[in-house]
Amino acid sequence: MKKIEVENYNMILWTVNDYCPFQCWYCPETTWGGSKDTYSWEATDKFLDKLFNHFGKGYVEMSGGEPTQWPHIHKVAKKFKDNPDWNLGLISNLGK
Ligand code: SF4
Repeated sequence: MKKIEVENYNMILWTVNDYCPFQCWYCPETTWGGSKDTYSWEATDKFLDKLFNHFGKGYVEMSGGEPTQWPHIHKVAKKFKDNPDWNLGLISNLGK
């Protein structure tokens, strides 16, 4: 487990898609009835570079929909792995 200092620590909640393979009765269709691929890798890569360069350190939590259905999630995970100042979290149903 890694200790996280909270001073000057930034937190972003990012809804990366509005698609989910499940249709839970209590969940609105706007959460699961859309597209897997809402952001291109090029736009995402640029955004994360700017984020990492502008803010020193932080945490990004990705949700959807279902973030594991987003086609770029592995590339994003690699980018975070290569940057020890930033942590990545997922809110997932682990259904993939
Ligand atoms: S996003 Fe979660 S709650 Fe909604 S349909 Fe998918 S698994 Fe169910």
